[in-house]
Amino acid sequence: MGLKPIHGGCQCGTVRYTITAPPREVLHCHCSLCRKAHGALFASFGDYPATALTIDCGSASLADFQSSPGIHRLFCPSCGCQLFNRIDKWSDRVFVVLGTLDAGENPGHAPTDERHIFWDSRVSWYDTGDDLRKDTGYGD
Ligand SMILES: [Zn+2]
Ligand SMILES: [Zn+2]
Repeated sequence: MGLKPIHGGCQCGTVRYTITAPPREVLHCHCSLCRKAHGALFASFGDYPATALTIDCGSASLADFQSSPGIHRLFCPSCGCQLFNRIDKWSDRVFVVLGTLDAGENPGHAPTDERHIFWDSRVSWYDTGDDLRKDTGYGD
């Protein structure tokens, strides 16, 4: 699958990356771990093939926090930016934090391949106001 390369990186510029294949889907995760890790009401990820991601610089700098056994949250220790989730049981995939894409970049997904997950864990006081599918837990 061809895709015009997509670029992104952390806030301070230590970590830069390129993506060269489209994601299976885009996930907006409302779980409490994502909310705490990102300091946000939910976190948005592209579920990409691991082979689609090239870390152009800063790979050795990435810090790895396991929020649950086997779930690695990779972030830049200089600026605190969350960049990638790697999940041991899905080692052929990488979840890229879409807020780190450069301005003007698009994740490259089909509009139908986008949903909310862990919708049951969302905060009660904010409505995302969209028609996307909303799954309890990870869904299927
Ligand atoms: Zn940084
Ligand atoms: Zn989550």
